[in-house]
Amino acid sequence: MKNESPLDFTIAHNRDEFQKTIEETNVRISQGHYKATPLIGGKAITTPHSEISIDPSDPDQQIGEVWYANKEHCDQALKSLREGAESWSETPAAERADILRKIAQGMRERRNELSALIIREAGKPWKEADGDVIEAIDFCDYYAHEMDRLAPKHQTMDVMGEGNYYFYEPRGLGLIIAPWNFPLAIPCGMTVASLVTGNATILKPAEQTSIIAAVFAQIVLEAGVPANAFAFLPGDGEDIGAYLVDHIDIDVICFTGSKGVGLDIIRKASEVKPGQRNVKKVIAEMGGKNAVIVDEDADLDEAVKGVLYSAFGHAGQKCSACSRVIIVGDAYEPFVSRICDAAKDIAVGPSQNPETFVNPLIDFESQQRVLNLVDEYKNEHNLAFRGTTPHKGYFVPPCIFTDVDTTSALWNEEIFAPVLACCKVSTFEEAIHVALKSQYALTGGVFSRSPKNIELAWKKFRVGNLYINRSITGAIVCRQPFGGSRMSGVGSKAGGPDYLIQFLEPRTVTENTMRRGFTPELI
Ligand code: NAD
Repeated sequence: MKNESPLDFTIAHNRDEFQKTIEETNVRISQGHYKATPLIGGKAITTPHSEISIDPSDPDQQIGEVWYANKEHCDQALKSLREGAESWSETPAAERADILRKIAQGMRERRNELSALIIREAGKPWKEADGDVIEAIDFCDYYAHEMDRLAPKHQTMDVMGEGNYYFYEPRGLGLIIAPWNFPLAIPCGMTVASLVTGNATILKPAEQTSIIAAVFAQIVLEAGVPANAFAFLPGDGEDIGAYLVDHIDIDVICFTGSKGVGLDIIRKASEVKPGQRNVKKVIAEMGGKNAVIVDEDADLDEAVKGVLYSAFGHAGQKCSACSRVIIVGDAYEPFVSRICDAAKDIAVGPSQNPETFVNPLIDFESQQRVLNLVDEYKNEHNLAFRGTTPHKGYFVPPCIFTDVDTTSALWNEEIFAPVLACCKVSTFEEAIHVALKSQYALTGGVFSRSPKNIELAWKKFRVGNLYINRSITGAIVCRQPFGGSRMSGVGSKAGGPDYLIQFLEPRTVTENTMRRGFTPELI
């Protein structure tokens, strides 16, 4: 497996091509080219209710119209998938894997256009948008490769006179519920995992990024997934998301999003209703409140750079983002002063600008929530740095709070924005203790030059993805399988070797090969 390379924006040709595609995409957007409709049985359906998707950098700009599915559309989609499920489950795994490679190819061919749409609809800066697209491509290639590995039946033990075989089968109908912050990579990864394992699959994208998801859905069908093995249902999570989670026909739910919604889905999915065939399997990737420890002997140049990128990249709207820094002993004052100085230079601006580092938040509601929180927290904590923002767009300024009380809400609750909290501790052991005193366990980081402390972090800093002497975001498929534990999620790591098994049901068949009797009439 070879990961797709990121675009090198230091090369003028790449920059020019990318800019050109953004401009072409902007023209198509202004002509009303992009829309999202439910896709059921391969047919696009316009529905009674639609919403306009807008650009978070400039809310006056419309990206496209999104037709919301309602419960009747869910029932139609489920009927179509029930009809198609068996045939899809019996399609040879190698064929399904090849279709994933075609989906990857479909995205490769539209790579810059997909990035441009991510820039416009999700508000991601250039590099982050390109990263989103290549991660989606990697998921397809990796899960295709993984399916090839898992498909063959294998003999458990070689016993004379007995054949014992172990193999995997699809669970049935898969429901994918996606967030907006990786608007292509996450819905794509979850959807193709469910499809390649032979489950007929519904994708319910996040409301805010339905247009990007609609382009992906089109690519899925064009690549050869049968029309009654895949349905795309844009719509309101609390309405159709909840309805589908409750539905007796759903066998596996794969969710990525907030802790509140994730826990609600886990609870609801555990209630078995009359006529339900399976206990629903739930895979839920949820939030984070990730800490970086800066040791007393850390290289502060590296630590400042790594924390700045991890905390403020995509405006802190990554589940893996750093939102807490724990600094040991004498490193505290120089680290805090240097990161506040460095933060003055980061570019906050519209996502289309190539120099933008901190983009807007996804929507007005998020912006208002975070601005109110910052106002509240600044009464109780020391706001050492507050950046500035453009007037238009859903921006919030990057903020750094220092001397933060580790029992406070600022320290413990996920904000999902460019808001960083710093605290000082006396020893590296205490730093690990403070880092782990969180309900979440997704990512974590350590900057240290002490082999003893690095070894201690390996052993004790128990988070899903631990990064040593580097930034803590940007996991790469297969290279850094990604996912957390505790309140950060249940399930195996995305982009890792245990992921597909969650969408499969193992079976064992034992056959007595000795006492067959004699049936001459069959010879
Ligand atoms: P969200 O929980 O608000 O929404 C996620 C999805 O759930 C959306 O499609 C939404 O429509 C749907 N939904 C909402 N209510 C529902 C309900 N009652 N029943 C069924 N579906 C419902 O999350 P978000 O704001 O889109 O994403 C941000 C959150 O996602 C953050 O907490 C972030 O940490 C988390 N996240 C986690 C990971 C990870 O890998 N652990 C990755 C990305 C994002």
